[in-house]
Order: sequence, then structure tokens, then C-alpha cells
Amino acid sequence: MKLNKNYLRLEESYLFSTVAHKVSAFAAEHPDRKILRMGIGDVTLPLAPAVISAMHAAVTEMGDKSTFRGYGPEQGYDFLRESIRAYYGRRGVSLDADEIFISDGAKSDLGNILDIFDTDNTVLVPDPVYPVYVDTNVMAGRKILFSDANASNAFLPMPDEKVEADIIYLCSPNNPTGAAYSVEQLKAWVEYARKRGAVILYDAAYECFVTEKGLARSIFEVEGAKECAIEFCSFSKTAGFTGTRCGYTVVPKALQSEGISCNKLWLRRQTTKFNGVPYIVQRGAAAVFTEEGEKQIAENLSVYRRNAKRISDCLDSLNIWYTGGKNSPYVWFRCPGYDDSWQFFDKLLEGAGIVGTPGCGFGKNGQGYFRLTAFASEETTQEAMERLKEFLG
Ligand code: PLP
Repeated sequence: MKLNKNYLRLEESYLFSTVAHKVSAFAAEHPDRKILRMGIGDVTLPLAPAVISAMHAAVTEMGDKSTFRGYGPEQGYDFLRESIRAYYGRRGVSLDADEIFISDGAKSDLGNILDIFDTDNTVLVPDPVYPVYVDTNVMAGRKILFSDANASNAFLPMPDEKVEADIIYLCSPNNPTGAAYSVEQLKAWVEYARKRGAVILYDAAYECFVTEKGLARSIFEVEGAKECAIEFCSFSKTAGFTGTRCGYTVVPKALQSEGISCNKLWLRRQTTKFNGVPYIVQRGAAAVFTEEGEKQIAENLSVYRRNAKRISDCLDSLNIWYTGGKNSPYVWFRCPGYDDSWQFFDKLLEGAGIVGTPGCGFGKNGQGYFRLTAFASEETTQEAMERLKEFLG
């Protein structure tokens, strides 16, 4: 037996474990200090009542012989695929239901999609980056190139004709930087990908936070994107499904290479290796698109949006450069007076009792930057911003 030694090339991820270690050491030393946690990338508000009642009804169905369901379609139930198709339709993107695949979240599919691509493809990922894009390709032994996201491009790298990439990852609104591409900017990426015969793997996990006109919520808002892109989306941040697990992946039928359809290969991959998302969860996800569900979810999202605004208003008042916050739950800012993100982390924890995430943990271009998230409670966020103002002001 031979192991996949590519796993040995994975870099240890010390980011969140080091944060946890430092915070618990600080709490032990200062039991009287209140710590405000602003580094979490997980939602804190509960599932919407419409989702809960749809899931309760589905549980009842599962307990009745006449409505019980066993294995469902691997690619998802029609009722959910249709709701997602209509959701895209309301935003001017027309899809066929069989281009939509229900998943147990974006993370799984972002990794699993690589099954349909040869190892001999060069991958382009932005730096800083959501680590899943890098690690899944390291595991497969692919060559990885990085596109620099930095202050000079407002953390939105654009294509470089000289770079020969076959698989391109884009994440917008971005984790960790909160920066979001406009439809115009994505046009350049689509043009680059089509010219090269490359594929864009577009992570739209935070699309629900986009409110500004002209910014993209889907890569398929760009003409021609169906010939070069796959889109990953999730109910995690939209509807608080981080622990419930449901997402979807759009693989257009127009996406082909050497006459082979990616949609067909992905369907084959899913029907072979995946047995679908639980019926109860899919019923809950479908309730997200009902009138009642949409209203309730909008209320939850507005809490996170208000928090993001509290953070960005505070940074504005302190004259600190940042991205995100406006169309994203993440705010990414230049550490004021520090070149090292960890040094700033320590000072912020000691001086203000605030926990954030050091930007250098997401890639070399994150050094000197810091991420705060809008997922804490309104009270915590308010208090944290008051402390931040006092600490840095
Ligand atoms: N993509 C990005 C950019 C994320 O930040 C996350 C989670 O934090 C995910 C995907 C994973 O989403 P899911 O919960 O649907 O697996």
C-alpha cells in the first residue's frame, strides 16, 4: 500500500488553533476581563422560523409510512432545484434545473469538483485566500500559482495574460478580505478564461451580502460565463445553515472541454460518490425561498449588515484603510502602526480585549492586515467598536 504523499506537503494550519491558544491563555491570566470575540466566521443567529417549521413538517412526513422517503436523487430534490432556479431567475440569470446540484455545503463541492479535472492542470488562487482552494489542490499534487491581492488592487486581483492557468479560483465577496468584484471586473476574468480554455471556480458563498448596484452576486451575470465557470453557493451564511449543511453548485451544460460536458462528468461523479442531502434539510432550505422565509432571513442578514457597518464606521472614524464591510460580513484592515498581524493581535487582545484574525494566516499578502467579522451579537460588536476607538484613537 502506498499513501498519497502529497498530504505531507500540506502546510500545518496554525491560524485558528494559535488564536484559540492565545485567547485561553489570556483568559486564564485575566479572569476578570471580558473578551469580545470578533474573529468568528460562523453565524450566531438561529435558523428562521419558516425553516424550522418546514423541517418539522418533513420530520413528520418521515415518520409516516405513506410519506416516508428513503434515498433521494443524488443531485437534489426537484422542489429545491426549482426554487434555486427561480432565485437566479429573479436576478436575471436563466438556468436549467439540471444545471443545479444540491450539496451538503460549498466546502465539500469546492474540494470534490476537482475529481473531474486532470491532475495536470495549473491552478491560480488569490493570496490571501480561503485555505480550502490551496489545500485540496496540494492533496492532488497540482501546480499552484498565486495572484497577488493587495492594497494596490483593493484586494481584487485582475487577470494577467502572461499567467498560464487552467483552473482559476475566484471568491466574491471574498473571505477573508470582504472585497467584492463588479460585473465589469468579472468580464475581464471571463474573457481571460475563455481565451485560455480555462475554468473559473467561482465561490459565491457570501453573495447574499451584496447590496451595491454593479457588484456581482453570480458570475453568470457576465455574458459567456456559462462556457467557462462553475459556481458554488451555500445556505450557511445566507440562512444560518453552517451546522445544518446545505449548499448548491451550478455546472452549466455549456461548459465543455474537447467536446466533453462538465455537467455530465459532475453528474456521474455525484451519482457515484454522493447519496444526496437529507430530505429534511432540503425542505428547510426550500423554505428559505418562501415569502415568509425570505423576510425572516432578511431580518437576520440585516443584523450582520448593521454590525459590518458599525465596524466600517469605526475604522472610517479612525482613518484606517480597509476593504469589505459594505457588501460582506468581513472587514479587512491595515494594522495601524504594526507590520506584523500577530503583533497587532496580541496588542489588541491585551489593550482592548478584542479577538480578531491575523491576516498573515491567509497568505503572505495578508501580513500587516487583520480581519474582523460581523457575526458576533450587536451588543458585542458595539462594545468592541467603542473599545477599538478608545484603544486606537
Ligand atoms: N467558501 C468560503 C469562502 C467560506 O468562507 C466558507 C465558510 O466559511 C465556505 C465556502 C464553506 O461553506 P459551507 O458551510 O457551505 O461549506
